[in-house]
Amino acid sequence: MQTIGHFIGGKHVDGTSGRFADVYNPATGEVQAKLALASQAEMDAAVANAAAAQVAWAATNPQRRARVMMKFVDLLNRDMDKLAEALSREHGKTLPDAKGDVIRGLEVAEFCIGAPHLLKGEFTEGAGPGIDMYSMRQPLGVVAGITPFNFPAMIPMWKFCPAIACGNAFILKPSERDPSVPIMLAELMIEAGLPAGVLNVVNGDKEAVDAILDHETIQAVGFVGSTAIAEYVYSRGCAAGKRVQCFGGAKNHMIIMPDADMDQAADALVGAGYGAAGERCMAVSVAVPVGETTADALIEKLAPKVEALKIGPYTAGNDVDFGPLVTEQALHRVKGLVDQGVKEGAELVVDGRNFSMQGYENGYFMGGCLFDRVTKDMDIYKTEIFGPVLTVARAETYEDALDLPMSHEYGNGVAIFTRDGDTARDFTSRINIGMVGVNVPIPVPLAYHTFGGWKKSGFGDLNQHGPDSFKFYTRTKTVTSRWPSGLKDGAEFVIPTMK
Ligand code: NAD
Repeated sequence: MQTIGHFIGGKHVDGTSGRFADVYNPATGEVQAKLALASQAEMDAAVANAAAAQVAWAATNPQRRARVMMKFVDLLNRDMDKLAEALSREHGKTLPDAKGDVIRGLEVAEFCIGAPHLLKGEFTEGAGPGIDMYSMRQPLGVVAGITPFNFPAMIPMWKFCPAIACGNAFILKPSERDPSVPIMLAELMIEAGLPAGVLNVVNGDKEAVDAILDHETIQAVGFVGSTAIAEYVYSRGCAAGKRVQCFGGAKNHMIIMPDADMDQAADALVGAGYGAAGERCMAVSVAVPVGETTADALIEKLAPKVEALKIGPYTAGNDVDFGPLVTEQALHRVKGLVDQGVKEGAELVVDGRNFSMQGYENGYFMGGCLFDRVTKDMDIYKTEIFGPVLTVARAETYEDALDLPMSHEYGNGVAIFTRDGDTARDFTSRINIGMVGVNVPIPVPLAYHTFGGWKKSGFGDLNQHGPDSFKFYTRTKTVTSRWPSGLKDGAEFVIPTMK
């Protein structure tokens, strides 16, 4: 049985805590590796290593740091198939989707090649007589990222690429479910020329997370995961005086106006609702057709598409729409929520609960489920399901439809499908959600914009990637400098103003 340890100081390091977690192949249900879970002492050692490496890295000019990113992008492309295979084997998503996971991270590495430009400061010449004033962005020191299972390549890269390009050293604590790709990424960064110790991967569970949150050397923490843990990390990290940004769960609505192209809307819903088995924070989980006629037409188009979804292991190749859920626990949880929806009186139009995959009976597969007539008070409406379950909540009017995502506790993504520019414009202006799609079901911003939800989907002031990430991973120092003659005239007792 393979044992996975940590990656500290540029090399593989065995765990010493004696605690391990099982890493499963979700398609077969088999344990494929034992993952070492770090103790506080192991975290302390990694942080000390990072702190020592950070000083020289921060002093390396930004162009040279950017060249490491350039090379890293080349290496990601070189190893794309290998990375995707390792990712699918532990996560369960299809190979094309696994490549998408790597590519969306790679794009952030590409964005970080612009670090020399993004790190330029501000300068005012002659702010006063003989006085110049300038601001510079300096790295924070050692920073950390705690990431979820559902994008084991993309989200670690969203965190460490900007942090490292800014001159910080990084501690990555990835998900225990799929730890192989984060370690492969760290190896590639070393191959790309990153000095040892600047990027460290420390595997672990709550003990490792708490060690990060309490560690006085760690200056900032970026977290992505479920809302309950996001709130915990945010409050404990802030209380310890760190800069913290946490991105949490979601319940993304897609509003379908009566004038929308119904075929296009149904296709968009199937892709966005069931892709990656619904295990995406930007998955659409609630469709909101406006008017009974729209709702009936939508259900008529959706039901056969959901019944025809192709489910299978990633080894089946490109002809699979989605794979298994990540763990047996996740499978039971999602099926339990479907049972609950039936009990609550929602209409289960397509029931995927009894799906079984021949030859993969121990895998964590389930079929797509489609609920109609879901209402605001139901658990399946309030809870993030994170599985292949699409719920349809009918609305009588546009205002009723708008009210659903507006009053939901989550605020990650939302979409509207319409042919009317005025409706789309009103919607994008009024909606209280961080990322909005107009005839685009999964509006994940590209690397040079920023990604972040509102309400219970995001905690902290700045978003991920884009210009916000360079602000998050640096702090501003402002220098007021005077080179006058006559400093010897004596002390000034009045607060200086720029006359
Ligand atoms: P999770 O909250 O279970 O785990 C996330 C991280 O927190 C992992 O590294 C895990 O080890 C750690 N963790 C888990 N329990 C902990 C505890 N009790 N104390 C301290 N640390 C703990 O999330 P997950 O199941 O890996 O990921 C799925 C969730 O992530 C979904 O809710 C999804 O919406 C969310 N997500 C959000 C975004 C976003 O940008 N908003 C992106 C991807 C995923």
